[in-house]
Amino acid sequence: GDRFAVLTIGDELLNGEIADTNTALIGRILGSCGYLLRDSLTVGDVEPDIEEALLYLASCRDVVIVSGGLGPTEDDLTARAAAGAFGRRLVLNDEALGLIRDHFQGLGLDMHPRNEKQALLPQKIRVLPNARGTAPGFLLQHNGKDLFFLPGVPEEMEAMLQASVLPLLRERGGGSLPMQERVLKVFGLSEPKTEELLSRAGLPEGVQVAFGVDFPLVAVKLRASGKSAEESLDRAELLARRALDEFVVAVGEETLAGNVARMLTNAGLSLAVAESCTGGLICSMLTDIPGASAFLERGAVTYANSAKQQWLQVPAQTLAEQGAVSEATALAMARGIRLAAGTDLGLAVTGIAGPEGGTAAKPVGTVFIALDAEDQPKVKGYRFAGGREKIRRLSAIMALEWLRR
Ligand code: ATP
Ligand code: MG
Repeated sequence: GDRFAVLTIGDELLNGEIADTNTALIGRILGSCGYLLRDSLTVGDVEPDIEEALLYLASCRDVVIVSGGLGPTEDDLTARAAAGAFGRRLVLNDEALGLIRDHFQGLGLDMHPRNEKQALLPQKIRVLPNARGTAPGFLLQHNGKDLFFLPGVPEEMEAMLQASVLPLLRERGGGSLPMQERVLKVFGLSEPKTEELLSRAGLPEGVQVAFGVDFPLVAVKLRASGKSAEESLDRAELLARRALDEFVVAVGEETLAGNVARMLTNAGLSLAVAESCTGGLICSMLTDIPGASAFLERGAVTYANSAKQQWLQVPAQTLAEQGAVSEATALAMARGIRLAAGTDLGLAVTGIAGPEGGTAAKPVGTVFIALDAEDQPKVKGYRFAGGREKIRRLSAIMALEWLRR
């Protein structure tokens, strides 16, 4: 098949001012249509460097997507470099000039004479309209290679990729069938353990497994291509779920919080949350899910002992004798928030996220989670490893996991 590459242009991509998100965007969009990127290159706003990169990529790749440097300012050199690299003259392109004029007219604005520069394009190219901005792109063909030149502004580039590049690639042919992917999110198993369980799951031929980490979750990516990809993935998902059992906390686009939201909503259960060391993280994750009001009544961040007493009726004695980070306090917080809110469930988290505040008996990472329901309150202590951020995140995810049970 065709070999695809990306070339991004801009000093700001190299000096760290902005991150190159265009390469990822192009990789994602082309990949979803079966065109896999072979590699990518980034150069600064330096004409000889742009020329060199273009010549190199045109020598060993079939399709090159170029982004950046089509603007009206002096530092936008891409069209000139393209003309130089492929021995074309730079000429005022009437079609491009018309599109630029139309763009300004549409906005009711006068065109700055400098914008004419954006119509200075190499000879014998095909103009690609830019519905979102001034700079039109262009397609330059050289020795059977297609080089697409797009603006750097991500939303303009994306729109042109969809509107112009993909249709032209389809005409060109040479893509493979898109790879399909099914993601299972796993919590509570390490990557090696997950891999071991999957190796015994008997996944169908042709299904590849890749792993990703979205701490503390492991993402298992099942991939297949070809005509029966969908069927293979259905079967693979079933077998993988069987092998990984309750450790699968979400599938596909769904997050753990989304999964919890769906389960609580379906069960018709209401929830209130009292947070200490997670500082609202649990409620934030839950309210990321549209429609969370169907089950979430309230959340309270009770950081100080006085707040735990006033808002949650945690007895002063419990705090004094057991400490704010204890089974008894976690239980009292869960009970307190449930009674105050009148919900079916009360969830509470209290712990030491560090870096200060640990003791020999309760080191940093000590976290208690409690869940109070009408009949059976439950509580458990954990010893999480890592820095403050990891401990907080792990605590929140573990607390959400409790709600799934
Ligand atoms: P303009 O007409 O706006 O000047 P242009 O084609 O000249 O468009 P650039 O000047 O290279 O594009 O980039 C415009 C803006 O687009 C940059 O300031 C940056 O914010 C964004 N941008 C450019 N390249 C990338 C990239 N690879 N990833 C993410 N953002 C980018
Ligand atoms: Mg620019």
